[in-house]
Amino acid sequence: MSRIAYVNGRYLLRRDALVDIEDRGYQLADGVYEVCEVRGGAIIDQPRHLGRLQRSLGELRIRAPVAPGALAIILRETVRRNRVRNGIVYVQVTRGVARRDFSFPPRDTAPSLVVTARSLDLAANERRAARGIAVITVPECRWARVDIKSVALLPNVLAKQAARDRGADEAWFVDREGRVTEGASSNAWIVTPDRKVVTRPADNGILRGITRTVLIGVVEAQNLVFEERPFTLEEAYGAGEAFVTAASQIVMPVVRIDDRPIGGGSPGPVARALRADFHRHAQRT
Ligand code: PLP
Repeated sequence: MSRIAYVNGRYLLRRDALVDIEDRGYQLADGVYEVCEVRGGAIIDQPRHLGRLQRSLGELRIRAPVAPGALAIILRETVRRNRVRNGIVYVQVTRGVARRDFSFPPRDTAPSLVVTARSLDLAANERRAARGIAVITVPECRWARVDIKSVALLPNVLAKQAARDRGADEAWFVDREGRVTEGASSNAWIVTPDRKVVTRPADNGILRGITRTVLIGVVEAQNLVFEERPFTLEEAYGAGEAFVTAASQIVMPVVRIDDRPIGGGSPGPVARALRADFHRHAQRT
């Protein structure tokens, strides 16, 4: 947990870091967020994450709380004050504090900005990647704009809990056509039996993961064949490999989907090689 949090202009001890009960993030999930990996003290792919934050804010017509340069300084300072070497930095922006009303608050309402940072156990993450994770599938039930990184995550919360309840680590959403969209907190990938690396196009139906974007470059640098196209759950069951991507997990091999072993039931060479190479392609700030 973050020991020090940035809240609307101040760095506060965790116990003093409070938001107003009328904050629209709390009342209406009217806000957006970003999560960047911190590795070796550096923030990974920060410009891309802040670019996506800007886009999410723009799509929801929420004003940026501070200038991009100032936000970069706040991220760095929050990481420093929490002494995070390996972990994540979290940024949340909401439409601010106003009397509860669905329509937008008065124009002069200041957006709220909270930034926290916490350490993650890098070695535990590596052990997990060496074992691989299990995935279950759930029907896609989210709204049609999941390309916006909104804090309205209730379907994702329920999907992740369903995974936990079934002894799995992640849930993949599957649409009415039987196609995998993405994970509850990750993008979904498969490697076909003839070694093509496949992930769904980033339209409004998935979040355009920053890890996904960077990894496409790694796939190409490794001279693998990349196919950006929808894939069905049936195809995933028969895949040579599967994996998920997210800032906090990089490339995480998937070894079971709905209790069916994928590939040989252990992490495959393509996922392992992509994971090993990822940070050579990512940007450090
Ligand atoms: N899709 C969803 C629904 C997510 O919540 C996340 C990350 O949390 C991702 C994809 C992966 O995005 P990124 O690689 O930018 O972390």
